[in-house]
Amino acid sequence: MIQRDVIIIGAGAAGLFCAAEAGKRGRSVEVLDHAKKVGRKILMSGGGRCNFTNMYAAPENFLSNNPHFCKSALSRYTQWDFISLVAEYGIAYHEKTLGQLFCDNSAADIVDMLLAECTKYSATITTQCEIFQVEKSTQGYLLSTSKGEYQCQSLVVATGGLSLPKLGATPFGYKLAEQFGLKVLPTRAGLVPFTLHDEDKQALADLSGIAVDVSAGCQNTHFREAMLFTHRGLSGPAILQISSYWQPGEEVEIDLQPAFSIGDNLLQAKKENPDSHISTCLAKHYPKRLVQVFMERNQWPNVPVKQLNEKQISEIDQHFSGWTIKPNGTEGYRTAEVTLGGVDTNELSSKTMMAKNVEGLFFIGEVVDVTGWLGGYNFQWAWSSAWAAAQAV
Ligand code: FAD
Repeated sequence: MIQRDVIIIGAGAAGLFCAAEAGKRGRSVEVLDHAKKVGRKILMSGGGRCNFTNMYAAPENFLSNNPHFCKSALSRYTQWDFISLVAEYGIAYHEKTLGQLFCDNSAADIVDMLLAECTKYSATITTQCEIFQVEKSTQGYLLSTSKGEYQCQSLVVATGGLSLPKLGATPFGYKLAEQFGLKVLPTRAGLVPFTLHDEDKQALADLSGIAVDVSAGCQNTHFREAMLFTHRGLSGPAILQISSYWQPGEEVEIDLQPAFSIGDNLLQAKKENPDSHISTCLAKHYPKRLVQVFMERNQWPNVPVKQLNEKQISEIDQHFSGWTIKPNGTEGYRTAEVTLGGVDTNELSSKTMMAKNVEGLFFIGEVVDVTGWLGGYNFQWAWSSAWAAAQAV
């Protein structure tokens, strides 16, 4: 029987950071993971450069059934704390946009840093370890695994969400929560591209590869970023962001002119350049293929702008500012960056991440019903929730 103060299940972002921080407090810590390699999501995050935090991270950037839950952990271990750690390791980074911090070189820098911290504080990691059974004992927890029997006082569950099953994602954490009587809120894919109904897919097929600056919204929430037409539907940051708020069957409103007004431009062209054609005016703001598809779809004749009356101009303007589309669904966990829902925060202490009614059992990271926006927020939640638990295990 292997004895440890703390066993952490899951050697991803939250598990590795929690291991190092608990080790720093003098606890004997072991991380168990069924995968061959640790931190696989970190390695492929941010296009291989890991968007490891966001300078503007705040509770408002997170979705949860209880929006207040994340406040404590985020305020006790902030983005600035993690940035200091990154700087301490001499990892070069840059702000890409909107406060999003990426490694200059490679996401492997972050994994190496976490592993170095684990080594520094004597936290050990065992990979390719299947967990067969977890039981509560008088001293804590007994784990039966493919690498032997373990006993620990504190058990931290950091098994993440369901996205990218091919990288080792499993519902283990949710099942363990249920085993100990904790409520798990329904899960669904977040930060995920939309798929479209056949009719829309065919109509927009020629636009695949085109990106436009938009404001995409539903549920009174809007994101101003790029949208990308794909051969399956819609993607790009604005779409990924709004997908976390979207409910099946709902329409998404897309303002294709968030920074200008096509209506004003057509009125101006009518005065200054009355013989120019509608398509020429629109093509000043949008790729030609998009103009063509929109004109065909709406049966706008390509006449000189002088032939348009104010009502027609207003209709064209309205079309670009209030384009709506009803997605068929999402690409699901196969491509989603995160999982919404998970272990109900009402079951956990926001200060320690420990289950309120199960002494010594902790849940951290994505397995908990706290999901960040796109832009480094999900890793910040992993670091902050891991740190909070590490102070209490
Ligand atoms: P994970 O990092 O998923 O770690 C969970 C660990 O648990 C894994 O090592 C897994 O092997 C292990 N595990 C699972 N089941 C078992 C089991 N049954 N037994 C033992 N071990 C198990 N977020 C950002 O903030 N910035 C980004 O740039 C970013 N890019 C992303 C890109 C992609 C393609 C994806 C999929 C996600 C991205 N995210 C990003 C989200 C971010 O990766 C996650 O929110 C974060 O990794 C969650 O950390 P975690 O430790 O909770 O879970």
